[in-house]
Amino acid sequence: MKYLLALIGLVMCCNADVLAQSDRPNIVIILCDDLGYADVGFNGAKDIVTPQLDRLAAAGTVFTSAYVAHPFCGPSRMGLMSGRYPHAFGAPFNLPNAGLGIESYNRQGIDQSETLISTVLQDAGYATAAIGKWHMGIEKPFHPNHRGFDDFYGFLGGGHKYFPADYQGVYERQTRSGKPSINDYVSPLQRNGEDVKETEYMTDALSREAARFVKQASASERPFFLYLAYNAPHSPLEAKDEDLALFENITDVKRRTYAAMVYAVDRGVGKLVDTLTETNAIDNTLIVFFSDNGGKLGLGADNGPLREGKGSTFEGGYRVPMFFHWPDNVPSGVRFDHPVTALDFYPTFAGLAHAKIPDGKQLDGKDIWQNVVAGSNPRAGETIFAMRHRDGFSDVGIRHDQWKACRAYNAPWKLFDLASDIGETRDLSAKYPDMLRQMVAEAERWSHEQPTPKWFDNLKAENKWKTSGMPHFDQTFRVQGD
Ligand code: CA
Repeated sequence: MKYLLALIGLVMCCNADVLAQSDRPNIVIILCDDLGYADVGFNGAKDIVTPQLDRLAAAGTVFTSAYVAHPFCGPSRMGLMSGRYPHAFGAPFNLPNAGLGIESYNRQGIDQSETLISTVLQDAGYATAAIGKWHMGIEKPFHPNHRGFDDFYGFLGGGHKYFPADYQGVYERQTRSGKPSINDYVSPLQRNGEDVKETEYMTDALSREAARFVKQASASERPFFLYLAYNAPHSPLEAKDEDLALFENITDVKRRTYAAMVYAVDRGVGKLVDTLTETNAIDNTLIVFFSDNGGKLGLGADNGPLREGKGSTFEGGYRVPMFFHWPDNVPSGVRFDHPVTALDFYPTFAGLAHAKIPDGKQLDGKDIWQNVVAGSNPRAGETIFAMRHRDGFSDVGIRHDQWKACRAYNAPWKLFDLASDIGETRDLSAKYPDMLRQMVAEAERWSHEQPTPKWFDNLKAENKWKTSGMPHFDQTFRVQGD
């Protein structure tokens, strides 16, 4: 009997080892910040060149209807990490930059009751790293090292300057001069809570750190999870001369700088892929590339053919460029047109990792893996929401099969058929009033589950919320004619 138990133990042990080495992929998220839908070669960019991204996209699956949880940074990232709409835990606004006089909000962050996907993977034995922009809270309970990441390199705020000469020492000098609160964009970079002296252009530094982590992690038997969150091409528009030189044909200086910033990301992705290849990790690594929201119009981005951009509940605000790459596992050379959302990543990654999702954890997305492999629709007849609160009213986007309902800028609800009108130009609300009412009613039911925001990104937004009796969803979800 003793020998039998030992044998069973040996078999179980070996199975666990096999699982660790081959059955569970490494997972790499490469997130861009404010990257436009049309600003990568694989989505049709002509003036911006992204050879490394295009090569991966061509060998993988490109998602043409990929949504994020919110049309701007912080809430989108909190949705990704928590697997829930950010509204559900009071986070539909960005955490404010430091220096705006709302310090109590600077001390907030992604809700402590939410177990993040990083923690789920860490608990399942993954080595985990967050590199780049965080924007989910700067205080200790919200710091990446306390939210499932073994390794953190980057900055905690919502944006940053790119050249070390422009921020190195600035924070210290201003603090010494007695300035009470310093803009996040000049804060020192940090490694696991300790300030560091960086010497490279930001995008190159983050790529270097990603490669460093992959080298370290792939030397162990454990699978790894890398969250590489470039702040490029988010403002400030700052590019290296060598990258700018490649785009002299672009006459608009903002577009030229933006193009050079995207190219630096592409170069970094190439470096990361080289490292994954050298370490023999590439064949067992799922790479997911996307943007946290649409490109910002007026700052060099192009979301064509989608309407509007960052911040909007039209498609350009929160439908983003995206691909999956994993040799022999993700279909190669395929375009996937069914709607998916970044909220799906949490359950999908947990499934691939054979990781346990905590009992009672609320999730708004679903495990889409089998659908991705089969090319089938993961949510026929189901709905994806976006809701952005503005000063005294709310914008809402509702995606349901090929239909899109949108209410923006306090104007009446509109209905579009995205299958024939991806640019949301022909309002069909008068032609299909019942479809519109049904979609709006579903969004209204969803909205009433959402609590009051825990913070606001500026004082004006907070005052307006209070003085105008927000959220007054009765007005938001009233369909014209009713
Ligand atoms: Ca963003």
